[in-house]
Amino acid sequence: MSDPWRRLTDDLAREGLCARVVPVERLADVRLRVSRALDDADLPSAVAAAVADDVAFDLPASARPWRSVVVFALARPLTRATLTWHGKEHTVPVPPHYAGYRSVPQAVARRVDELLRPDGYAAAHCEPALKTLAACAGLARYGRNNVAYVDGIGSWLQLGACVTDAPPPDDAIWGEPQLLERCERCTACLRACPTGAIGGERFLLHTERCLTYHNESRAAFPGWLEPSAHHAAVGCLRCQQACPEDRAAGLVEATPERFDEEETATILAAERDETAWAGLSPVTQAKLERCGLDYLPAVVARNLSLLLEA
Ligand code: SF4
Ligand code: SF4
Repeated sequence: MSDPWRRLTDDLAREGLCARVVPVERLADVRLRVSRALDDADLPSAVAAAVADDVAFDLPASARPWRSVVVFALARPLTRATLTWHGKEHTVPVPPHYAGYRSVPQAVARRVDELLRPDGYAAAHCEPALKTLAACAGLARYGRNNVAYVDGIGSWLQLGACVTDAPPPDDAIWGEPQLLERCERCTACLRACPTGAIGGERFLLHTERCLTYHNESRAAFPGWLEPSAHHAAVGCLRCQQACPEDRAAGLVEATPERFDEEETATILAAERDETAWAGLSPVTQAKLERCGLDYLPAVVARNLSLLLEA
């Protein structure tokens, strides 16, 4: 790697970020790989369309052509919300990457931009299919649960990317995504998955069975999904909690954000009226953001209702 890139990745490493840099042309390969994976997964058409929509991306506009992509990872804490409902407190977890899902990678992209400016280059946040990009760039490896793992961080992380107009390093790594070696002799996530989404016989996740896919969606839950499978405000923690690969890296738990009865009632009201959260004070809105509940209000409200009424 050339000196400017080594300097940048070293600076980011000092700030807790692992990063790799690849030529911008690699994004075409990312698109191709995602499209092939969707074909191979043989998903129901509605699921395939939703996943394709989720990973579709455009590059930001720029007067100068983008030449390289920085893909990065940073550890994120488990966040929690303590909601007061019918006089009782309920603490609900939110998987680590929801808090700051957009704002954290955007802040890192601004930092990369700041670090490149003295050399006359710029960077801008972009959202390609991050797991594919990180895995092919050698930043992450896949677990059997199709989650991305980064050495030294584990899987409790946030991935992000930005494009830059700086020429890419000559020795940028690019190749086939690698699987964790431990997965060859481990089935902990497969056994822990509450919905049978992890295939023993195939690497690709059965997305249409994954709890995260369903509880991130506005669509009604399928009849086969057991109410007892729900345990988080959104997403699912089970396969990562079971994974021995994560034990060494550890998971930091943030102090729960507390919501009183009135705040909780307004949060839950978004299930019927998506605009309900507009009535929340800036202080409450900030707490929602800090603990990652600011993902789609109607979806989060539906999931929380289910957990609080259980
Ligand atoms: S639980 Fe085991 S099989 Fe699953 S991702 Fe972790 S190491 Fe791999
Ligand atoms: S996120 Fe949950 S439902 Fe999806 S594969 Fe992991 S354990 Fe199974």
